Amino acid sequence: MSDNTAIVVGAGILGMATARALALKGYKVTILEKSQQSLGASIRNFGMIWPIGQPDGHLYERAIRSREIWKEYLKNAKIPFDPCGSIHLAYDQEEQDVIEELYSHFLQSQRPVALLTPSSIEKKFKGINQHNLKVGLYSSDETIIDPREGIKHLPAYLKTYYNIDILWGTAVTSVTTNTVTSFKTKYNADLICICSGADFETLYPTIFKELPIIKTKLQMMRFVPNESSYRIGTSVCGGLSLLHYKSFTASKSLDILKSKIEAELPEYLKWGIHVMVSQNDKGELTVGDSHEYGLDFEPFDIQYVNDLILKYLKKMMHIDNWTMQQSWNGVYPKMTNGETDLFIKVEPGVYIINGIGGNGMTLSFGFAEEVVAKI
Ligand SMILES: Cc1cc2nc3c(=O)[nH]c(=O)nc-3n(C[C@H](O)[C@H](O)[C@H](O)COP(=O)(O)OP(=O)(O)OC[C@H]3O[C@@H](n4cnc5c(N)ncnc54)[C@H](O)[C@@H]3O)c2cc1C
Repeated sequence: MSDNTAIVVGAGILGMATARALALKGYKVTILEKSQQSLGASIRNFGMIWPIGQPDGHLYERAIRSREIWKEYLKNAKIPFDPCGSIHLAYDQEEQDVIEELYSHFLQSQRPVALLTPSSIEKKFKGINQHNLKVGLYSSDETIIDPREGIKHLPAYLKTYYNIDILWGTAVTSVTTNTVTSFKTKYNADLICICSGADFETLYPTIFKELPIIKTKLQMMRFVPNESSYRIGTSVCGGLSLLHYKSFTASKSLDILKSKIEAELPEYLKWGIHVMVSQNDKGELTVGDSHEYGLDFEPFDIQYVNDLILKYLKKMMHIDNWTMQQSWNGVYPKMTNGETDLFIKVEPGVYIINGIGGNGMTLSFGFAEEVVAKI
């Protein structure tokens, strides 16, 4: 064990994953978080640990490593999670072609996938709309957590297992080599990692201004089923999601599907909508999402966007017995140059770790181990 100290700014998943990786490397780590609890993108998401969205190679491996760390944490902390996998449903020939090609591709890459007929989908899962259903791509890789629980309890776990402290309500206003300032207090450390998520106006704003990074706003909804024992049995996605994840570009027919969606559902593309459902251990159903890009957004949810999501959801699921409980939005930064993340040194001993986009729950733990190995 060394006596080196590290400060991490931000207690979202990326900050906490970075803190964990630094502690494993022997640092005594303190996280400084401006809010009284983690309130950013990390508690606003689906809780999808989602290897299927990652292309073969190091990103898929990073997702699998992250999932392993999640499971270790969730088991030790006795927090429920559901390794329920995922299904992508095809409702027309173009979606079916893509799904069949992806099935062959993933099978070759030795991923745990199966091509399911409508009748086997009906037997295996609950509530999936059979009307016009052609086929489904099932993958057993995916795991669902309730992010509100998973993120809330992570600080206590990090303290118990890694002796990581978090100072809540501690907004960092400036950083230089070895020193972090919050209000009038200065904190010293050998190493400083800034994981400030969508707040890139406060620290090193001129550096961020030059970077190919933008913010993304997503609208989300939560439902409760009227029947307490209702369980879908997996996480559900439709054809629009096939356009969303990098791993699906392995399908040659994807462009044909894209042209069809451009012609038939232009409003869905305009608002960046693809429809996914995850169900947590309490039975609550998280549904989303849309994608608006910019540096500032209206803080309000747009009902029109939620209506588009619901219309598409009904194509995939029977939702008559679901009651809407909440809607909200979340914002994350995303790289615009095709990179999947951001890791830069801004001064001696000061690093910015950010830009993990819509994959932070899936990738942060593994990504943090990789970047800390480079520090
Ligand atoms: C609606 C939605 C759905 C998503 N679904 C999924 C999903 O299912 N699966 C998946 O893998 N990913 C998903 N994502 C992406 C994932 O949530 C993000 O990639 C991830 O949460 C980003 O983590 P973060 O730590 O960078 O940011 P955040 O969670 O936003 O944390 C940043 C933290 O830094 C703090 N901070 C900022 N500035 C300062 C400062 N100056 N001083 C002190 N503290 C500061 C903030 O208060 C905040 O707590 C989703 C995102 C959204 C918004």
